[in-house]
Amino acid sequence: MTDTVDVAIIGGSFAGLTAALQLGRASRRVAVFDTGRPRNAASAAAHGVPGWDGRAPGEILAAIRRDLAAYPTVSVHEGAVTGLDGKIDAFALTTATGAIIARRVIIACGMTDTLPAITGLAEGWGKWALHCPYCHGYEVKGRPLSILGRGQMALMMARMLRTDWSADVTVIAHDGDWAPNTEADAAAFGVTLRWSPLVHAAPEGDGARLTLADGSDLFTAGLFLHGETRFAAPFVAGLGLATLQGPTGPYLVTSDFKVTSRAGIFAAGDITRPAGVVTPALADGVIAGTAAHQSLLWPERFPPITESRP
Ligand SMILES: Cc1cc2nc3c(=O)[nH]c(=O)nc-3n(C[C@H](O)[C@H](O)[C@H](O)COP(=O)(O)OP(=O)(O)OC[C@H]3O[C@@H](n4cnc5c(N)ncnc54)[C@H](O)[C@@H]3O)c2cc1C
Repeated sequence: MTDTVDVAIIGGSFAGLTAALQLGRASRRVAVFDTGRPRNAASAAAHGVPGWDGRAPGEILAAIRRDLAAYPTVSVHEGAVTGLDGKIDAFALTTATGAIIARRVIIACGMTDTLPAITGLAEGWGKWALHCPYCHGYEVKGRPLSILGRGQMALMMARMLRTDWSADVTVIAHDGDWAPNTEADAAAFGVTLRWSPLVHAAPEGDGARLTLADGSDLFTAGLFLHGETRFAAPFVAGLGLATLQGPTGPYLVTSDFKVTSRAGIFAAGDITRPAGVVTPALADGVIAGTAAHQSLLWPERFPPITESRP
């Protein structure tokens, strides 16, 4: 017989496990499905997470899982959800281990990053190829930093890094659109501008040597960059949920209570933001978990979102 739960949670990381904790504390039957690949898995340490600053992502998640073990109505399953059908009060999920019926669903599967196709870059991701100065800038402050420039926005990042992280900042104009005043801005901010795409990166010490298409090279302790993002669970794109386009890819639109554009389907974490870090994902988990719980009592108070908000 197919198992039935109050809430199924797709993705058991920062957002999904936190949602499960709220529901477990209401003694609701919850099934969490997880493939064990949080977005920051490539990083040895997560920073800027209050109380956990500098701890390994896996260590933080293991602690949340230990907390969850105290709640017997919560089960965590290793494996993917591959499909979602049905409607409020009777959703059907396809999982690696079979089907499950759920009255509510929380999508917390996060995003997958696709990096620019540059030799050596993927190997450095989370080490010296970095996505965010707040997460990893402090560890490389005062050292040679660079930005893989993919258009004018790179100058904003350059100004931030030059002001508060390092006197040695280089923007590599890799691709994208650049304004006529780019060189003047770079000079005004005190950053170096290199008009040549990055073609190769190789580890060197605790940083990397970057080779540009014009044959020149430079050492960097931290290369800041962004790739393209997509929903980590491919089937989510086919659910017809309202999305907005962020700078790196689409994300799900949700109400203040984390309801998507389909009744009974909530979403939490990075998948609901143009850019995310751990703490808002945890907060989203609280909101989605408590809202999903209350919607079992008062579904009319948690309507699907009908408009896209900027
Ligand atoms: C390199 C890097 C370093 C980072 N460093 C920091 C940092 O230092 N500090 C910080 O605050 N933020 C950091 N972040 C951001 C942080 O990783 C995210 O904000 C956070 O992981 C989002 O949590 P989440 O729960 O929404 O999604 P995730 O943590 O990405 O978790 C999603 C979970 O869903 C699972 N999943 C995916 N598809 C399925 C499926 N079909 N079925 C079941 N499970 C599925 C995944 O395996 C994963 O476990 C970093 C990001 C990157 C890319």
